[in-house]
Amino acid sequence: MDIQSIINRIASDVSTASDRGQVADYIPELASIDPNQFGISVALPDGTCFSAGDAQTPFSIQSVSKVFTLALALGRFGDQLWTRVGREPSGLPFNSILQLEQENGIPRNPFINAGAIAITDSILTGHEPKEVLGELLRFVQTSAEDADIHINDTVAHSETEHGDRNLALAHFMASYGNLQNHPDRTCGTYFHQCAIEMSCQQLAMAGRFLTGHPDAPRLISLQRTRRINALMLTCGHYDGSGDFAYRVGLPGKSGVGGGILVIAPNRASIAVWSPGLNEYGNSQLGTYAIEKFAQMTGWSVFG
Ligand code: GLN
Repeated sequence: MDIQSIINRIASDVSTASDRGQVADYIPELASIDPNQFGISVALPDGTCFSAGDAQTPFSIQSVSKVFTLALALGRFGDQLWTRVGREPSGLPFNSILQLEQENGIPRNPFINAGAIAITDSILTGHEPKEVLGELLRFVQTSAEDADIHINDTVAHSETEHGDRNLALAHFMASYGNLQNHPDRTCGTYFHQCAIEMSCQQLAMAGRFLTGHPDAPRLISLQRTRRINALMLTCGHYDGSGDFAYRVGLPGKSGVGGGILVIAPNRASIAVWSPGLNEYGNSQLGTYAIEKFAQMTGWSVFG
């Protein structure tokens, strides 16, 4: 299969798109990003990487980081983690507080903000934020085989200054006894994790550990890669998860920076990026591009 010409075609197809969605503006640092950018990279398990468009331009991975913190937390706590966070799709926006009260402060899943904040809180207990962020960066750098991957402090501070909604989620969980650190400490760490910057090429490389292929870096057990993929498929795009599964048929995790990490188990790790978002806060053209890619390759977890 000629992956390079498939992604070249997709990149040229999306370059003429007129409806590119809306850039996230609730994090001021992200509001000024040029929506006309688009990149795609496909990394095979052995590190062979194909790229098209703006695939070398770093962007804020935001919620895609939740996949890496979940991998770390599962490694540290195993199934214990599921006493604090559920494993069901929420059917609500990523930053919704609605279910938290009805469900006694236990977030529906690790990919909505409340769930991701609980996950970050769990790995923070007994450690300094710097240590935890260092461990997270090392995990990502090892997986990507790239020591240049870093956190953009300006983006982290920009989100901290406008973090009322996430702080509210953290305080709410604290009131139910589902937070082990002060909300400021947990959210501060969470904002920094979200501010990791990567290009499509780096992100596709970093995602290879989730392919489960023997040639990819083996950072977690095979059973865990399958489980994280299951959660990505059912919850990785919030209330747009069903639509993404229907259109793409592969597990994916989106972020409001416009990036999406998609895993084709045993085949490849794919990263797309286009900053404009759809109504669910997922990359509009990124979703379109990955749908085309799945159609053109015939890759799907559904046969
Ligand atoms: N840092 C962002 C937030 O908490 C991440 C959300 C996202 O990417 N969907 O709002």
